[in-house]
Amino acid sequence: MTEIMEFEKIDGIGIVTIHSPPVNALGLAVRQGIIAGVQLGIADNEVKAIIIICAGRTFFAGADITEFGKVPVEPHLPAVFNVIENSPKYVVAAIHGTALGGGLELALNCHYRVAVPSAVVGLPEVSLGLLPGAGGTQRIPRIIGIEAALDFITSGKPMKAKPAMEAGIIDAVVDENALKQDAIAFAKNLITTNAPMLKVRDRNEKVAQFRGNSQVFADYRKKNARAFRGFKAQENIIKCVEAAANMNFDEGMEFERKMFFELLNSDESAAQRHVFFAQRETARIPNLPADTQSRDIKKAGVIGAGTMGGGICMNYLNMGLPVVLVEQTQEALDRGIGIIRKNYETTAQKGKMTMEQVEARMAQIIPSLEYSALSDCDIITEAVFESMAVKLEVFKKIDAVAKAGAILASNTSFLDIDEIAAVTSRPSDVVGNHYFSPANVMPLLEIVRGAKTDNSVLSTSLAIAKKMGKTPVVSGVCFGFIANRAMSKRSEQCNMMILEGVSPELIDKVGYDYGFAMGPFKMADLVGLDVTGRDSNELTVRGELVRLGRLGQKSGGGFYDYDENRNATLSPIAVEVIKDVAQKLGVVQRPNQSETDILARMLYPVINECSKIVEEGIAHRPSDVDIAMIFGYNWPVYRGGPMFWADLIGLNNIVQKLEEFASLYGEAFKPSDLLLKLAKENASFASLNRK
Ligand code: NAD
Repeated sequence: MTEIMEFEKIDGIGIVTIHSPPVNALGLAVRQGIIAGVQLGIADNEVKAIIIICAGRTFFAGADITEFGKVPVEPHLPAVFNVIENSPKYVVAAIHGTALGGGLELALNCHYRVAVPSAVVGLPEVSLGLLPGAGGTQRIPRIIGIEAALDFITSGKPMKAKPAMEAGIIDAVVDENALKQDAIAFAKNLITTNAPMLKVRDRNEKVAQFRGNSQVFADYRKKNARAFRGFKAQENIIKCVEAAANMNFDEGMEFERKMFFELLNSDESAAQRHVFFAQRETARIPNLPADTQSRDIKKAGVIGAGTMGGGICMNYLNMGLPVVLVEQTQEALDRGIGIIRKNYETTAQKGKMTMEQVEARMAQIIPSLEYSALSDCDIITEAVFESMAVKLEVFKKIDAVAKAGAILASNTSFLDIDEIAAVTSRPSDVVGNHYFSPANVMPLLEIVRGAKTDNSVLSTSLAIAKKMGKTPVVSGVCFGFIANRAMSKRSEQCNMMILEGVSPELIDKVGYDYGFAMGPFKMADLVGLDVTGRDSNELTVRGELVRLGRLGQKSGGGFYDYDENRNATLSPIAVEVIKDVAQKLGVVQRPNQSETDILARMLYPVINECSKIVEEGIAHRPSDVDIAMIFGYNWPVYRGGPMFWADLIGLNNIVQKLEEFASLYGEAFKPSDLLLKLAKENASFASLNRK
């Protein structure tokens, strides 16, 4: 008996109950409690089998994160596992809630596992750039086989009890409301049937056949090459599972340990752990009292059924709300609704939705050409053309029809929310809700807090983001807010470099190699050059390409030409256009820039702009900026975002390079005051987090 462990005997079964709220994390007291309990059972002659069960809402939910970064105190997890696995009496894990990470690894050391139907098991370490380092990679393949283990561990996806039983992780699914009684019955049955003492470590039947078979692992790497690119954890997990096939158990454990520590010390995992915590931090808003009431949202309105409006409408439909969708013309309305339907039907074809669900969502759209249809909406989001004149007109119209207390949101990418708010009679109800394209897919919602935005409007926007499954980042008012403002610096430099004679192909390669899904010019071709190249009076390469009808992939080509399989080759027409524009603008030619310099020119100005965004208080903390860039622009997660990456490089080095660029290319590269200050103090952006 310890403070958090209770031992009791029922019908010859020793029951070790751990109660360490909130989630029975495997901290020191829990580890001690488990050892004490199991040893009591082993020592007691009346006890023939032992059950490990948890009180409260869950089985051991994983490691104790408060112990992260501290010197670990004995007994460590492996010692606990040894006591369990080497027990001469059966040990049965009785699982409810979640058995994740170390929690599942503990259960895998028990000789048998039973779970209630709602229980979930999983090894989510991969999402932190780690692997299950307490035997998970060696035991899971031994009970579910190599291929299933690769998927289970590299995805980190949790599995419900029933599929887990089918896979072999769980031995029995028991009554939802009778875990303890059913576990006792299960244990008694083991005794009466003289069931084998199953140690997962000794079970080789599912792995032996793969010994020396490197093909299955090569195929797996190939199949997942795109998804795993740049991540270290997935590769190390594959190596460990391969070790489970090729090595004996103890060697495999040693190898797993080596692979685990390699990850623990890697930049990739440090970045992913940073992202994990940073994501949880974004909703912590200074100057927003904890008791702020959110407004009730039962009906939404969206104005504009174009690229963004359609996606925003889907987000609200997915929340289960009816949505009034307003357009200028019947044609635009029909087109927008047609695209929404097509998106849902595609989801249904993939088996992720039923056709009934598609129809139910579609039935919740209330299409209209009249603003008056918005009069009973609790939140109205404007997604019309990006023009201040148009937005001001639209907000005047919304103001005239919206009910008192309705939230008036703008999806503007760049424009001043305060100016928009000022044309309404209720600036405190106005907020920026800036989605990223495709709005129904991208996981970021930038919430722009205007000078007069009411706290309840902000807190409702945060709640909406959560309900939509998006991560909110709060931004102050400035041109482009956080993500677009920072990323526009990358575009500026890339556009400049091609004029200097650097090939778009090389720039795209550098961007891709850094970890972006594609480089900026391939991306521009995909999005459509007219999205950014239109309406500009300046002489630009994009503008010229648009004038030539080269709008990107949708018109057969832009910077690149595309074959029927969408393979890209640099377009000779684009090359000519670039030369011509450069000549007309008198750009000094510098075609021979190194890949290292190209990367620095692409991304150091972004870091510099992010620094200004923090300095000006537009973002609350550097980690919010990282999240905005990762979730809004697919900045590679394993780089941790621009601010985390800058810290890794060292702010001194960033400053030095920016100053070198400033002397070559001008003032645009001048390091921000904050960057200079931190570099001088040998400090990091991270030092400004958690404030
Ligand atoms: P879009 O051209 O695809 O759609 C705009 C729609 O608004 C059109 O269907 C148009 O008919 C409609 N519209 C225009 N004026 C209207 C009015 N007065 N009343 C009703 N409907 C009206 O444009 P989009 O790409 O969806 O952009 C919309 C807004 O979202 C812009 O402010 C843009 O900056 C912003 N945004 C765009 C993206 C993107 O990647 N496309 C990303 C984030 C934010």
